[in-house]
Amino acid sequence: MNIVHISAECYPIAKVGGLADVVGSLPKYQNNSDVLSQVIMPFYDNKFTKGNEFSIIFESKLELGSKDFEYKIVTPINNNLGFNLFLVDIPKLLYKEYVYSNDDTDRFLAFQIATLDWLLTLDAKPTLVHCHDHHTGLVPFMMLQSKKYSLLKDIPTVFTIHNAQYQGWFSHDKVSLIPKFNFENVGLLDWDGSINPLAAAIKCATRVTTVSPSYMEELKGNANGLEWLLSHESAKCVGILNGIDSEVWNPETDTYLIKNYTNGNVQSGCKENKNWLCEEFNLDVNKPLFAFIGRLVGEKGSDLFPEVFKKSLETENISILLLGSGNKEVELQLEELKSEFIGTYNAFIGYDERLSHIIYSGADFLLMPSRVEPCGLNQMYALRYGTIPIVRSIGGLKDTVIDILEEDGFGICHKEVTVSEITVAIERGVQLYKDQPKYKKIRKQIMSIDHSWNASANKYINLYKSLN
Ligand code: ADP
Repeated sequence: MNIVHISAECYPIAKVGGLADVVGSLPKYQNNSDVLSQVIMPFYDNKFTKGNEFSIIFESKLELGSKDFEYKIVTPINNNLGFNLFLVDIPKLLYKEYVYSNDDTDRFLAFQIATLDWLLTLDAKPTLVHCHDHHTGLVPFMMLQSKKYSLLKDIPTVFTIHNAQYQGWFSHDKVSLIPKFNFENVGLLDWDGSINPLAAAIKCATRVTTVSPSYMEELKGNANGLEWLLSHESAKCVGILNGIDSEVWNPETDTYLIKNYTNGNVQSGCKENKNWLCEEFNLDVNKPLFAFIGRLVGEKGSDLFPEVFKKSLETENISILLLGSGNKEVELQLEELKSEFIGTYNAFIGYDERLSHIIYSGADFLLMPSRVEPCGLNQMYALRYGTIPIVRSIGGLKDTVIDILEEDGFGICHKEVTVSEITVAIERGVQLYKDQPKYKKIRKQIMSIDHSWNASANKYINLYKSLN
């Protein structure tokens, strides 16, 4: 089988969040089986494209409504990613320093058209096309409906919803940008009066997956307007839990870490990484360190952080460290908090891959009070690095973290996203930390949980095979 994954992000080429981690690792695991799994994504102006040489394998012009854009399909000359990579280079639209901005409709529409135009020219067409999130959500529609892609219409498509909050809505005024199709079927593109690429993908893809079983269920009640559609289409939907790339996320070999370690020396290994963090961020190494890593958006509960942190720092003998960016008002409040809690709180507002790895190891607890969490990779990285997750039981967090009060439990779970529930969860962390024998035992226990792609990659392969 020859599978192509189409995505806006893929680690290490371009990463904004978990989508990149998944698309950068799932194909690698799939290539260990009898499947050929490849990735097609945009060619951005970033470190990866500047630092690598590429060969051109196809050149043409695409039509976006009445405009023409020249584009190339390129592939890296040296590739040790574990999968074939094809980048769509549309200099005027995609070659930007950012992945997402407010011109996404035209950019990602052009990306999808260029991708399909190129696939159309291949003698060996893919056996299955796997699209990820709304940026590629019009691919299943165009393959089925656009006349120029009729040679692709029998190829099955799988569409994975990594996050249903973002749907890529745009106005029907732009419908002419989509390659010509039978206009009687325009309803397939529509949801609530807009063109909705996520909804179109749910309607048109052969199968729809979400990134955890619980999230699949939750979407029927909370999907940013698509609840009914997801319930209606539930027969073709399935939740498959994401895995992690256990080669990249391996504390034994992770080159970002200050000290590498295994299950056998987790205490001393984590301690050295914690020492570095505390030195760097002026925190007391003897206090339990609670950390957060991620986007500062409502979904992650970040608007509550200023109040939660203040309350916990006033009542508990702890340190808090945050790495993230997003909502500007929250960023400002989190910056301002620094002067109030010198020596017990610090924050790096921004994106830093290396620092994130050191925090997953050096923190004692990782906070994830998410309102919505389709899968969540952070808790799995924390587990692998011996850091105890404190999570709100929702979506993938519910599927991967068991509270310490339950049999074989190893994390701390709370039900609601409120200041009081999060602070109580932090307090429970403090109590656990005081019981060092138990705390140390859990650290060892969580490091050996297998969240690699081994199990889930096969679930995708079985799904692909059932469609061919
Ligand atoms: P989401 O995709 O919703 O942002 P996930 O938990 O699925 O959340 O994945 C988040 C990924 O992004 C993880 O690899 C996490 O380490 C990384 N990440 C998020 N914010 C930052 C940041 N500020 N600096 C470094 N890595 C980050």
